[in-house]
Amino acid sequence: MPFALAALGGLVIGSFLNVVAYRLPRGESLVSGRSRCPSCGTHIKPYDNVPVVGWLLLRGHCRHCGARISPRYPIVELVSAVLAVAVVLRGHSGREIALGLTLVVVLVPVALIDLDHRIIPNRITLPAAVAAVAIGLVTAPGRVPEQLIAGAAAAAFLLVFVLAYPRGMGMGDVKLAGVLGLFLGRSVGVAILAGVLSATLVGAVVIARVGVERGRKTALPFGPFLALGGLVALFAGAAIVHWYVHTSL
Ligand SMILES: [Zn+2]
Repeated sequence: MPFALAALGGLVIGSFLNVVAYRLPRGESLVSGRSRCPSCGTHIKPYDNVPVVGWLLLRGHCRHCGARISPRYPIVELVSAVLAVAVVLRGHSGREIALGLTLVVVLVPVALIDLDHRIIPNRITLPAAVAAVAIGLVTAPGRVPEQLIAGAAAAAFLLVFVLAYPRGMGMGDVKLAGVLGLFLGRSVGVAILAGVLSATLVGAVVIARVGVERGRKTALPFGPFLALGGLVALFAGAAIVHWYVHTSL
């Protein structure tokens, strides 16, 4: 039953995160105003706006003008639902579930906005940092120092990285790394490692496909990789840290 609830909640949250990813960088209100077709501007009917189902029934086209509606919307809703269920399934405590669900709510729009606009808005990272510390203070104040140290260390590491290798990275990535540290504690090392590895891998694939000359000019935004690393650390970070400590000692 909690899983069905988490799945439904995840779909609804995913639908809201689509709205956040579209409206926040455009400076539009997140709460007021119904969704419109990006092509013709017609208000989307509430029954067409049901997560995933609406898109499927319309076969990915606006009911009014017939313009194609990106499959990204239902995909984001489905991914959010899967992540919400996974967080609830794996969470050992209220603290883990609260931190995990909040982190998902932060990372999904951050990845989408960075892909679309090459920015990571302070309007997401700042409230995210406050939320992580607040959840820590309420649920396990004794572990807040670990959160703060991990956040500072991750931000400092990324800052050095950005200064040394600025292509496709910026201060938004530094702040996002700090936020990941606040949410993940010591597992943030896994997040950064997974982020750098996946970015390197995708960068190599791009270079293999378009050649070194054009590939080097294709600056991939780093935020989506950092977000992916954050999810890897969220679900496997503790296990990976445990494995590393026990195999290297
Ligand atoms: Zn339309």
